[in-house]
Amino acid sequence: RQQAADVLVIGAGAAGLMCARVAGQRGRRVTVLERANKPGKKILMSGGGRCNFTNLDVQPEHFLSRNPHFCKSALSRYTQWDFISLVSEHGIAWHEKADGQLFCDHSSKDILNMLLQEIEAVGVQLRLRTEVTAVSRKEEGWVVQTDQGIWVAESLVIATGGPSIPTLGATDWGMRWGESMGHELVTYRASLVPYTAHPEDRAGWAPLSGVSLPATLSVSARDWTGDVLFTHRGLSGPVALQISNYWQPGETVFINWWPHGDLLAQWHSARQQQGRQTLVNWLGQDLPRRVADWLAGDLGQLRLADLDGEQVTRLRTRVHAYAFQPAGTEGYRTAEVTLGGLSTDDISSRTMASGLHSGLYFIGEVLDVTGHLGGYNFQWAWSSGQAAGEVV
Ligand code: FAD
Repeated sequence: RQQAADVLVIGAGAAGLMCARVAGQRGRRVTVLERANKPGKKILMSGGGRCNFTNLDVQPEHFLSRNPHFCKSALSRYTQWDFISLVSEHGIAWHEKADGQLFCDHSSKDILNMLLQEIEAVGVQLRLRTEVTAVSRKEEGWVVQTDQGIWVAESLVIATGGPSIPTLGATDWGMRWGESMGHELVTYRASLVPYTAHPEDRAGWAPLSGVSLPATLSVSARDWTGDVLFTHRGLSGPVALQISNYWQPGETVFINWWPHGDLLAQWHSARQQQGRQTLVNWLGQDLPRRVADWLAGDLGQLRLADLDGEQVTRLRTRVHAYAFQPAGTEGYRTAEVTLGGLSTDDISSRTMASGLHSGLYFIGEVLDVTGHLGGYNFQWAWSSGQAAGEVV
């Protein structure tokens, strides 16, 4: 049986639900097709269950894309303040964490329920457990085949996200289908993802597993200061995830474990005043004890006054410019986002419409637009969903 709609949205994630809401408000008959048994699984999982739904400081610099200008139009027309108003209208309590990141006070469910109420209010049909398998363009419109039947619509919105966290049902279907329709696919990979370490590093780090501390991580393109976390497999924490957006496989990550001062200068003054103190005790005043032990290594029990110039220079390099060569990343299994995706080259930055096929739109993470950690990926989903919703 063939069913009809004005607008078909494929994917009931953040971007798809937002787009459906806006199109529904315009009186369009909208159906959302979702392969999973529940909508918005990534919303539910996000922000440790509290959904970091946007950021107070949304600037284009917080997004990566081969075309860094692409995101500007949509982000400036549906801003973080617009989404905050919507959240507040629904009486959802929220708070700011570090760096302008906004989280729900209670649960990510509040955000998902808000979107579900909004789409229900405007008569959007939501079909779960309905996987799109093939799409073709016919005279009567877009013909979408699913494992639950066939739909036909004038407008088709691809909001299928990226393949990170396959256990949630995430796929790269939208990216691959877009490519088959002539859109360029910018190489994509897992990002906002923890690093894995080579066995040599891992052996040294074993006692550190679970320890978190502030540090500066740098790769050639960027540096970031904040918390990193030693895991039993490598390095995680917000700053390790942030830098993964800029890291190229094979590249060394330089780590400054003592980002707020110069070790050499501080050692010079400390050896005058506390020359009898052991290196490890001295380092332990500013660093977690286990990290101090590991960084000091075989120098740990030497007194500050007894360290020679060569030893201090060696220590300084280890503390301020530790060269970490990741084995790789944890991959899509735990990645928060997919970096890369369908090129924005043939997409309108105002409407998200394909320049190659009429009535076709791409929104959210399926496109080559990736945000920093901190609520930016959801803001992109809301803004791009709104942009398409206004015209589909
Ligand atoms: P998605 O939300 O992934 O939705 C795509 C939907 O399409 C899915 O429901 C999928 O099942 C469906 N689909 C795929 N293929 C098909 C098909 N063939 N047929 C039918 N349906 C299909 N971002 C933030 O800004 N803040 C956070 O706090 C945050 N935390 C995160 C935590 C985790 C663990 C993860 C994984 C991500 C997090 N993100 C966060 C990133 C954010 O969740 C995504 O960037 C965002 O959900 C992308 O929205 P989207 O609508 O484009 O795709």
